Amino acid sequence: MDDIQSAPETEFDGVSPEEAFAILGDETRLNILRVLWQAGALHEYDDIDDSASTMSFSELRRRVNVGDNGRFNYHLSKLVPHFVRKTGEGYRLSGGGKKLARTVVTVAGEHDAEISGEVNSNCPVCGGAIRATYEDQWLRFSCTECAGLFGDAAPRGTLLNAPFPAPGLAGRTPDQALRTELYLCMSDLAHMMQGVCPECASPVRGTLSVCADHEVTDDQPCRSCRTPFAAWGELRCDTCRFAKRLPVELCVTSLAPVIGYLYERGLNVFSPSLEGLFDLVQTQVTIAATESPLEVATTIGSGDDSLTITLDEHLSVVDISQ
Ligand SMILES: [Zn+2]
Ligand SMILES: [Zn+2]
Ligand SMILES: [Zn+2]
Repeated sequence: MDDIQSAPETEFDGVSPEEAFAILGDETRLNILRVLWQAGALHEYDDIDDSASTMSFSELRRRVNVGDNGRFNYHLSKLVPHFVRKTGEGYRLSGGGKKLARTVVTVAGEHDAEISGEVNSNCPVCGGAIRATYEDQWLRFSCTECAGLFGDAAPRGTLLNAPFPAPGLAGRTPDQALRTELYLCMSDLAHMMQGVCPECASPVRGTLSVCADHEVTDDQPCRSCRTPFAAWGELRCDTCRFAKRLPVELCVTSLAPVIGYLYERGLNVFSPSLEGLFDLVQTQVTIAATESPLEVATTIGSGDDSLTITLDEHLSVVDISQ
């Protein structure tokens, strides 16, 4: 991925993040976005709908229920052009307005949505039962018996922990939610290892860190780095601050050569079982790090049937050998 040295000064269409927050800090303006979204007032050729749909000023004002013409016009004008577009026929959401409306839909739903019960997989570390919990729009799968996979890098017992929109829980059993979360994690990771933020499309900055004194004893994370894994990849978007920090063994599984290699050997990395994924990471992937230059060679498989991917300090691929 590209080596990004510093966060760009982000300007969206002439609107800074501070200005965008300020524009949206008003109930009438948010109601305008809500009404246009609910009416399907969107752009022609957007997505699968090729019909342009707009709403007239008077109809929009009536639905938002603001009596004062001048006051309504003032608020509407603040939203144009960044969140709302004005056309010859009327008003519709811009791409940014639609993205915002989708985000509201994504974070709506039960704030304390419940997912209860154990999943039908066993802990890949100790064989114990796995429990799903949902808190602060994060879906976590944890072992009920052992310390889990992440040492001090996550709450005790954690096997998988990732943001998960509440609407995605509706109608899914814990097992289905687990499969969905694994898919989301792997597809987000695939974006980020290509250097693209899955949330905002900005460049992603990668950083490799390697524990120099790594030593793991039975069921105990390393004393030095407090995790079971010696090499970690941190992937960070400086624009929207979306970030992931994962063992390098897992980072490489989302790269195209590894996806193909594993698929030919029976593992689809986009729909793995938890056991399958962690069996892969723990028993079939070996790493070898060098300090100068800081690189890590990750080998999947063994002997003649192996694939080695070497990443540099920014998690860019510098060598592939099979
Ligand atoms: Zn366990
Ligand atoms: Zn360590
Ligand atoms: Zn981003």
